[in-house]
Amino acid sequence: MNAATIPISIEFFPPKTSEGAHKLRAVRQQLYALKPEYCSVTYGAGGSTQEGTFTTVREILAEGMEAASHISCIGATKASIRENLAALKSMGVKRLVTLRGDLPSGYGIGGEFQYASELVAFIRAETGDDFQIEVAAYPEAHPQARSPASDLQAFAAKVRAGANSAITQYFYNADAYFRFLEEVDALGLAVPVVPGVMPIASSSQLMRFSDACGAEIPRWIRLRLQAFGDDTASIRAFGLDVVTGLCEQLRAGGAPSLHFYSLNQSAATLEICRRLFA
Ligand code: FAD
Repeated sequence: MNAATIPISIEFFPPKTSEGAHKLRAVRQQLYALKPEYCSVTYGAGGSTQEGTFTTVREILAEGMEAASHISCIGATKASIRENLAALKSMGVKRLVTLRGDLPSGYGIGGEFQYASELVAFIRAETGDDFQIEVAAYPEAHPQARSPASDLQAFAAKVRAGANSAITQYFYNADAYFRFLEEVDALGLAVPVVPGVMPIASSSQLMRFSDACGAEIPRWIRLRLQAFGDDTASIRAFGLDVVTGLCEQLRAGGAPSLHFYSLNQSAATLEICRRLFA
């Protein structure tokens, strides 16, 4: 690994249509040129995308790449999780991104798990060290957390339950990430915390996601995106500059790896990595 190199991983969501699946196969082939450590596939809360998630995971494995399946516990029973773990193990999956998940509003919580830490403990108890377990981390605090301190304790609970490493919610403020690393370190939690990187391709989409997941769009970025209006070329060019700059800061500050939220698109991730590794 030369000084400029940093490992990457790439996240996809399961496509809803056969056309989407076809397009995603081409996107993956383009992104494999970046030699990701692994590719992960999201999992709809309540099992809503289970079939699509497993199908996409199987395809990635068949393409000769390491695949991680996301797995969420909200609304799930121990029996359904046990079944999913057996299915994933038999497919050859070795890495799980282990989450609570978010049920759409209107659904009761139900199920036998309340928090992701309980799912991590359950997976460890059921399957020992069969899986590398990744969990979510929130440098800007999870939107439902009572306080940043209680969110940090929730993160610590996931690590103490057996998580090997973490991937963060995306952010555009590197200081929040570096501070989070210091706090994790101060608690003696010896796990790598990989920053999640969200390329900026569309202003309205980014605002919508960010409002939902609590990621802050700094005012200077928000104002510029608003000023570009429908000028997608300018939004993309600005987004590439901002996100490449962020990745450079993260790499220089010692981030162990970068996890790209591809949104099933290749162009932005390819260009950011081209600039990073040039
Ligand atoms: P938890 O760690 O359980 O935390 C949820 C909330 O509960 C937090 O506010 C926390 O502070 C609080 N909490 C935890 N434990 C306690 C406790 N003991 N007492 C009091 N409060 C507590 N969602 C999906 O549905 N599918 C996906 O595939 C998916 N992939 C993701 C990938 C990454 C990298 C990230 C960062 C998020 C992903 N999400 C996904 C979103 C995630 O499911 C939501 O952010 C969800 O709201 C929280 O999940 P969690 O695993 O962080 O939950």
